[in-house]
Amino acid sequence: MDKSISLSVCEIFTSIQGESTYSGLPFFFIRLSGCNLLCNYCDSIYAHGEGRRMSVWELLSVWRKSGLKHVLITGGEPLLQAGVYALMAGVVERGGVCLLETNGSLSVGSLPCEVIKVVDWKTPGSGAGGSFLFENLRFLTKKDQIKFVLTSRSDYKWASGILQKSGLSAFTTVLMSPCPGKIEPAELAAWIVEDRLEARLQLQLHKVIWGDQRGR
Ligand code: SF4
Repeated sequence: MDKSISLSVCEIFTSIQGESTYSGLPFFFIRLSGCNLLCNYCDSIYAHGEGRRMSVWELLSVWRKSGLKHVLITGGEPLLQAGVYALMAGVVERGGVCLLETNGSLSVGSLPCEVIKVVDWKTPGSGAGGSFLFENLRFLTKKDQIKFVLTSRSDYKWASGILQKSGLSAFTTVLMSPCPGKIEPAELAAWIVEDRLEARLQLQLHKVIWGDQRGR
């Protein structure tokens, strides 16, 4: 590994995974700095600025010392930094399970095949609607996950329309999250059941446990 490769890092921490089908498992989190979108519900605005430079070598070493098998690389938008590819490869080569969370606007076509992609598809109500890169659909498999964060009934109708027309659920895992303060989990649950939608309702487990605390 080239020890000179470095990344701008917002924070690293250990916690319980709060999202995706891996929810509930202990994880090592690496949050990279910088984002190319500005969603109106963003809960990690603090990741938009410049972070602390850390080498990929150092990040891998801290992760290994944590004793955790699962790693989530998130942001901000982690794919903005070229060094993230060395980080993903390093986790995979060392036997870790690597998830990468991305906002869907950049290509996921060059990720190592072992990496589990958790891809947002920004809704019209997010303030970043229209940012989704459609070619990303070609790179998703059943182990990957696509996530809609819904801010209203109208966002839900938009997302469920996409599912019904595209058959997305047949080739990847679909997650639907209620945006906190905008729609209630019970409302979204009722809509999904009513429409017999092949989508998994997702709540942010870390917020259920700790509220809106940073580093959780
Ligand atoms: S993509 Fe993620 S980090 Fe960027 S503004 Fe949207 S919610 Fe925040």
